[in-house]
Amino acid sequence: MKIEKNKVVGFHYTLTDDDQNVVDTSLNHEPLTYLHGHHGIIPGLEEEMNGKMLNDSFKVRIEPEKAYGNYNHDLVFEVNRSNFSDPDDLEIGIQVQGQMQENEPPVLLTVTEIKEDTVILDGNHPMAGQTLNFDIRIVEIRDASPEEISHGHAHGPHEHHH
Ligand code: ZN
Repeated sequence: MKIEKNKVVGFHYTLTDDDQNVVDTSLNHEPLTYLHGHHGIIPGLEEEMNGKMLNDSFKVRIEPEKAYGNYNHDLVFEVNRSNFSDPDDLEIGIQVQGQMQENEPPVLLTVTEIKEDTVILDGNHPMAGQTLNFDIRIVEIRDASPEEISHGHAHGPHEHHH
């Protein structure tokens, strides 16, 4: 069986930056599982997965355009501390929910700087602008259930939801 649309794929990954630092790895956990062909993983990785077989291992380098996007300076804001209900709980690196415009869904913003009266918030994905180097091993390929296909994502062995 090879990876194609509507297969559920399990894989292990190690993600390194361009200085060979390990950013993230699944090796001490369960493999990551996703439904192929439904944008469950970043586009550059899903493209590379296409046609791979069980136990295949490969390395892939993914540019920001096919990962978490380029860094957008227009998504950085300075807001007054008085906008926060608990301004003393703010810490650099935490994420807060914000709303760019009325009637738009909330977005996640990362606190990147705390000044005396204001806070700098960054709406970019924490990995925006980064080139990602993945080391991948495919550990599972199976047919998706009709329910998984209609939901557009993979279900775990004990997962029941509507
Ligand atoms: Zn579901």
